[in-house]
Amino acid sequence: LFSKLPQTEISIFTLMTDLANSYNAINLAQGFPGFDCYPYLQDLVTEYMQKGFNQYAPSHGVGLLRQRIEEKSRLLYGVQFDVDTEITVTSGATEALYVAITSVVKVDDEVIILEPAYDCYVPAIQLNGGLPVFVQLDSENFSVPWEKVKDAFSEKTKAIIINNPHNPGGYVWKKSDFETLSQLTGDREIYIISDEVYDHILFDERKHLSPCMVDSLKSKTFVCGSLGKTFHVTGWKIGYCLAPVKLTKEFRKIHQYVTFSTATPFQFALADFMIDPTRYFHLGEFYESKRNLFLNGLKETLFEFTPTEGSFFQTVSYKHLSKEADYELAKKMTVRARVAAIPISYFYHDKKDEKVLRFCFAKEDDVLEEAIYRLIEFC
Ligand code: PMP
Ligand code: GLN
Repeated sequence: LFSKLPQTEISIFTLMTDLANSYNAINLAQGFPGFDCYPYLQDLVTEYMQKGFNQYAPSHGVGLLRQRIEEKSRLLYGVQFDVDTEITVTSGATEALYVAITSVVKVDDEVIILEPAYDCYVPAIQLNGGLPVFVQLDSENFSVPWEKVKDAFSEKTKAIIINNPHNPGGYVWKKSDFETLSQLTGDREIYIISDEVYDHILFDERKHLSPCMVDSLKSKTFVCGSLGKTFHVTGWKIGYCLAPVKLTKEFRKIHQYVTFSTATPFQFALADFMIDPTRYFHLGEFYESKRNLFLNGLKETLFEFTPTEGSFFQTVSYKHLSKEADYELAKKMTVRARVAAIPISYFYHDKKDEKVLRFCFAKEDDVLEEAIYRLIEFC
């Protein structure tokens, strides 16, 4: 069979989760909460199912949920999106990203990717015949090296994918990053695909910013979000895309034939639950205490790290300890210490091995404490 994605392998999240399960290890590899959502949210799903909300939802998403997403976006960004023409509910941020990329990328268009990068961007570009152009983020703190990004722009540049807060590095974009992005794109038809799935998980009083808040960028931006991250329900796969009317029109044509619509009772339940914005605005605080607990423990190990600014991930470096390939070390740690992490080489197109591992600290405190105990023994 001719493969359209010859270089694509089984996702590292699947590989490490399978390994963690085989060795009964604590899975700090794949990024998902190790605790449940609010019982009330589950009750709402049951209630909607029992009331018979079990058939196709409207293709753009349940109206009430789009209203709640509008409210959340207005509170977060201070920007208004039209409920009927600028907000689409998707099957996770993964679908939103795929459809946004497919909406604008044609054969031979170049798309700038900042690496290390989440794994779903490149295949979506390639399936559309586009060409990813890679720029490496700063290897210490994952900030954006703007001079290199500038050099990567060409006549063929059609889009840039940004991810803020960043997975895996936890870098949070600053105002100056958006100013430079705006200068670089200028009046050109270059689209911004903005992956903001960790938009409510920022630490140390940082404030989330988005290209949709910048006048010169808003008309070219697709904001891709995930309610799975925000409400501890990654398995429900409910995401969304915010984009101006012209972009949303194109987006919806494709979304219509990728999934048509997204699971109905989950949309109604989330819409009801989101009536109270404190249910999502507390998230940074909630995860900050988990980050601090995990980092206090990490200090007792031999790993080096800079505290993550956002997301529920912490990267650590072991360059000073060993030359072992990151995948080998991650495997060994899963088998011997029974703690699984992600080797970051899998976030680079050329598997660049910077000797960095990523841990997910979205777990119960006692699980994090046990993981730290095992890591101290291992190091
Ligand atoms: N983007 C990033 C940066 C992610 O970490 C993830 C997964 N957690 C996604 C997109 C996909 O989100 P979803 O599960 O809503 O499809
Ligand atoms: N986004 C999650 C992570 O970064 C994984 C999602 C998945 O397994 N595809 O770990």
